[in-house]
Amino acid sequence: MLNNKITHMNRRSAIKTTAALAAGTALSPAAAFCTSENEQPLGIALVGLGNYATHQLAPALQETQHCRLAGIVTGTPQKAKDWSARHNIPTENIYNYDTFDRIADNPAIDIIYIVLPNFMHAEYTIRAFEAGKHVICEKPMGMNAEECRQMIAAQHKAGKKLQIGYRLYYEPHHLAVQEIGTNGQWGKTKLMESSLGFRMANPESWRLDKDLGGGGAIMDLGVYCIQAARRFTGELPQSVTAQGYNADPSLFKGIYESVFMQLKFPSGAISNASTSYNAYVDRFHAACEQGWLELKPSFNAGQPVEINSQPEITAAEPGSTYQQVAQMDAFALNIQHDTSVLASGEEGMIDLQIIDAVKRSMETGGEEEVGY
Ligand code: NAD
Repeated sequence: MLNNKITHMNRRSAIKTTAALAAGTALSPAAAFCTSENEQPLGIALVGLGNYATHQLAPALQETQHCRLAGIVTGTPQKAKDWSARHNIPTENIYNYDTFDRIADNPAIDIIYIVLPNFMHAEYTIRAFEAGKHVICEKPMGMNAEECRQMIAAQHKAGKKLQIGYRLYYEPHHLAVQEIGTNGQWGKTKLMESSLGFRMANPESWRLDKDLGGGGAIMDLGVYCIQAARRFTGELPQSVTAQGYNADPSLFKGIYESVFMQLKFPSGAISNASTSYNAYVDRFHAACEQGWLELKPSFNAGQPVEINSQPEITAAEPGSTYQQVAQMDAFALNIQHDTSVLASGEEGMIDLQIIDAVKRSMETGGEEEVGY
């Protein structure tokens, strides 16, 4: 049999499908794509103007239809000036970390998007809910499952919506592949392999500090490998075994440079995954009884996802090269139509529950039940 590259639907059906996917809800495509006259695009304030906010979220917000860049929170006065000029942000919508809580009084900000280092996610998400705003929080949701529980409790108390910055939950190739796995049309899933890694050699980066990043590649990148497997099967893994390796203890202090993990699912499917701060790799492979598929590249932002499979699979064309457009527009629609969020806080917490078990297994050397 030939390896079949993805074939794309025609543009019209792709746009319709993307609209439905973007909603992430039971809305019809037409309803999902339509903002009524009195529904203005929602205002987003980005908190933390680092690499991801600058090179992915800000450009994506130029293309969103249901939300727009309305404010910023930064500790660097020069960034405040530059962003204000570049994105036409009025002075009254610019905050620093001391004035953050005053966003509560600003009706131009509907959504606070936390794009800070991992150790700050829980604190700023909770404070954003206390300010009475909806929240998008970047991945990983928190440093551990307990922090996620506190974030969800704050959300419920505020009566607002929470989305985790899982852009791939709204990416058409990932959604097409997940449908194959969850509807069982190729029989049972037998084996999955996923890998995500890049070279991280900056000893000053918060990503390499256990207290700031939470544990290196497993927190930053492993989260994608875990969710690819559980979303393909539509199941939660019961148990994990994991091994950590560290070839350069002078750079990776108290964290593992590479982590290998095996997830066991109730149906018998197994996922083997690797995540690393020492090598580039980016792919997801799934083998079912009657077919196999590979996404490569699969997870990295800024690269179009490609599918290779037997039999052939079709997926809609993404509406934008920025995967965050569909993610943020979907969340705005969830708020405007009061519908449930696909990449919810509960989804984020599941991944931290699994990562907590991965960390336990690396310490004990044995199989660990996840426990949800
Ligand atoms: P970054 O280091 O480039 O940016 C972090 C920002 O936080 C900087 O502007 C920094 O000044 C600010 N900051 C405020 N207080 C800080 C403190 N006490 N210590 C350090 N920085 C502080 O990081 P990034 O790559 O933009 O990542 C930010 C978040 O976005 C992380 O949680 C990361 O996991 C997530 N992220 C997600 C994706 C994705 O595809 N969804 C991609 C990249 C990053």
